[in-house]
Amino acid sequence: MSPSFAEVFGRPCEGRWSAPGRVNLIGEYTDLNESFVLPLAIGQRTTVEAASRPDRVLGLKSLQQDGEAVEVDLDAPGVPGGWSAYPVAVARSLEASGFAVGGADLVCDSQVPIGAGLSSSAALECAVALALTGLAGVKTDAMELARIAQRAENEFVGVPCGIMDQAASMCCEEGHALLLDTRSLERRQVPLDLAAAGLVLLVVDTRVKHDLGESAYGDRRRSCEAAARALGVRALRDVPPDGVQAALAELGDEELVRRARHVLTEQARVLEVVRLLDSGRIADIGPILVAGHRSLRDDFEVSCVELDTVVEVALATGALGARMTGGGFGGSVVVLAEVGAASDVVSATESAFADKGFSPPVAFSTVPGPGARAER
Ligand code: ADP
Ligand code: MG
Repeated sequence: MSPSFAEVFGRPCEGRWSAPGRVNLIGEYTDLNESFVLPLAIGQRTTVEAASRPDRVLGLKSLQQDGEAVEVDLDAPGVPGGWSAYPVAVARSLEASGFAVGGADLVCDSQVPIGAGLSSSAALECAVALALTGLAGVKTDAMELARIAQRAENEFVGVPCGIMDQAASMCCEEGHALLLDTRSLERRQVPLDLAAAGLVLLVVDTRVKHDLGESAYGDRRRSCEAAARALGVRALRDVPPDGVQAALAELGDEELVRRARHVLTEQARVLEVVRLLDSGRIADIGPILVAGHRSLRDDFEVSCVELDTVVEVALATGALGARMTGGGFGGSVVVLAEVGAASDVVSATESAFADKGFSPPVAFSTVPGPGARAER
C-alpha cells in the first residue's frame, strides 16, 4: 500500500490537484515549426496532494520513487537532479513569471506510464503548477500555466520540448481533441466521440526508449531551422500549402528536403484530420494517420523497429490507422480500430513482439479525458 499524505508528512493535505498525460493524434514535430498539433488527454493522470508550509522549502515525495521525502530550499541556487527537478523547476518558473509561491509539502502519484511518450513529465509539471498556485490562492489562465510548465522543463530541467505536452495536459477537454496553433496558442476543441462511431483508440507502449532520442531531437530541430532559413521564412509553418512543391525543389539538399517534407505534409495532415473530425468522419482519418507514420519513419527518420512493428501488425490485423506518437525512438503507437478488432490487434502485437524477442508491449484503450483540474 502506498503511504498517504498524512503518513508522509504527519498532517492532512489541504487539497488535491490532477493533470493528465496525453497522446498526440497527429501533428508530430510540427510544434518545432510553430505549426498545428492535435493531442488529447488520456485517462491516466498525475495527482498531487499538497499543503503549504511557513518556510520556503518544498517537501517532495513521489509514490513512483523509492525512498523518503526530500526537502529542497527554494532560495538555494540551482535545481536538484533526479525527479524532484520537475516540481522544483515549476516553482522556479512560477516565480520567474512573477507568481509568489511559498513552501509546500507535495505527494505526487501517477498512473501515466513514465518515459512512454505519453508525457508523464508534463502531467507532473501541470499538477504541481496547479497545486502551488492553488495553495497560494493565485488565479491563472490554463494556457499561461502551460507556458510556465513548459518554461520549467526548458529552462530549469533543461529539456528543450515544445508547448504541446503542457498545453494538452492543461487545456484538453473530455470528448475532444485539442487543435492547437503552437505559434499563436489559439486553440479549439474538436469533437471526438469514438464510442458513437463504434471505434476505439488504442495506445500501445513499446516499453523501449532508445538513446538516440535526445541527440536526434536537437538534430531535427536544427534541420527544420536550416530549412526555414534557406527558404527565407520564420518557420516551416510559413510555407503555404500551394508552395510546398516549389519550396522542396528550392531546398535541394536531399536530407533537408525529406525533413522539410515531413513537416510540410504533416501540417496539412493535421488540418485534414480536423476537417474529417468536424464532419463526423472519424474512421476516415485512418489512412492519414498511416501516412503520418510513414513520413516520420522515412522522411523524418525518428521511428524504430518496435514502433514500425506495432503499426504494421495493427494494420495487418484490420486496424483503420496507426502511427507512432511522441518524439519517437521508442515510446508509444496510437491505433484507431473498430471496437470488434481491438483485441485481435493487441494479441497480434503481443505475438509479434514475442516472435521478435522484444519485451512485451503494454496496450490500453483511451477516450479523450478532461484536462488538469482541482479535485474534491
Ligand atoms: P515522458 O514525459 O514521455 O513520460 P520524460 O522523459 O519527458 O518522459 O519524463 C519522464 C521523467 O519525468 C521521469 O524520468 C521522472 O523524472 C519524471 N516523472 C514523471 N512522472 C513522475 C512521477 N509520478 N514521479 C516521479 N517522477 C516523475
Ligand atoms: Mg516528457
